[in-house]
Amino acid sequence: MHKKLLIPGPTEVSQEILSEQSRYLIGHREKAFSDLYGGIKSKITKFFELSDSYYTSVTTSSGSLWFDIVGRSIVKEKALVCVNGAFSSRFAKTIQSCGKKVDIIEVDWGKAIKTSMVAEKLESEKYDTVVMCHNESSTGVRNPIYEVGDLIRSTYPNILFAVDSVSSMAGDKIIPNNIGCDVIFASSQKCFALPPGLCIGIVSDRAIKRANNVSNRGSYTDLVNIFDFEKKNQTPFTPNISLLYALDKRLNLLIKETYAHVYERHLEMAKCTRDWAKTHFELFPEPGFESVTLTCIKNTLEKNVKELIEKLALRGFMISNGYGMLKEKTFRIGHMGEWNSIEVKKVLDIIDDIWGF
Ligand SMILES: *Cc1c(COP(=O)(O)O)cnc(C)c1O
Repeated sequence: MHKKLLIPGPTEVSQEILSEQSRYLIGHREKAFSDLYGGIKSKITKFFELSDSYYTSVTTSSGSLWFDIVGRSIVKEKALVCVNGAFSSRFAKTIQSCGKKVDIIEVDWGKAIKTSMVAEKLESEKYDTVVMCHNESSTGVRNPIYEVGDLIRSTYPNILFAVDSVSSMAGDKIIPNNIGCDVIFASSQKCFALPPGLCIGIVSDRAIKRANNVSNRGSYTDLVNIFDFEKKNQTPFTPNISLLYALDKRLNLLIKETYAHVYERHLEMAKCTRDWAKTHFELFPEPGFESVTLTCIKNTLEKNVKELIEKLALRGFMISNGYGMLKEKTFRIGHMGEWNSIEVKKVLDIIDDIWGF
């Protein structure tokens, strides 16, 4: 039996989207491809309200490639990386392994990075890049990227701001122009509700200018090369054309639904899940910094999460245990992509039934 996915990626993908991938292939240097790809980029520009100073690339990779792109092509010497979970920690390590210096602001899992912490660091040290994960999928914490973006744009014109929006873009409110970020990216298998294998990357003209002045950019991670090809509506290497068909379809659906409604729908799902969680447990994230696309719940009743997941599977649904060391201490319900609050409520009712609430 197929289990419907309410995990923080991959998310449930509809038949309508899945079947787009069965279309005949085209050559990636053909006009038909440039038309498809150019169209996708125009739709991304429209949906995310990008100004002229932003450019888009869809890489054939999972989201993590962009950790390397930032490490190779954006950070010149030293980055400040905000770490409050597994993904931001991996981002920091990746930049380090690209041979760049990294300073870390670290808070306990479940806590958010505050703008004042970033401000304090920026006053005392020189960095060329600040890195933040918007939606820490390991803890369900949502970091204040709009405030941090404001701080950087108003006071540090030479610092670039790179944001991991892997599990929030196309669900939570992400308007790059208003964030003032220079690099922001998201994997196809999270809120875009597509199969894994693509990453949607949006960069500012500042980021491309910076990349031109950074050496040892590698090959797949060379932002300059990527955007040279973008001018022709092409990608440097053979892209996953089948998945691009699916992305094109997804963007049509998102635009039809409208940005405001997509965000509103995710907010409703988050509220409904948080309300349910708070009647039985506690939320794991510190108050005021809860994710809109997934809810991480503190297992205060010491319920057997593994067993719940097994029982839920028999009823056709899948949620996630806690991440890494948070296994059994927390559990996570992903409400991203094509879900709505009525469907989510049904799953919560089944959990009530299994746990006898
Ligand atoms: C899923 C996730 C990633 C990793 O993305 P992949 O597509 O698996 O490479 C990175 N950051 C966050 C916040 C995520 O949720």
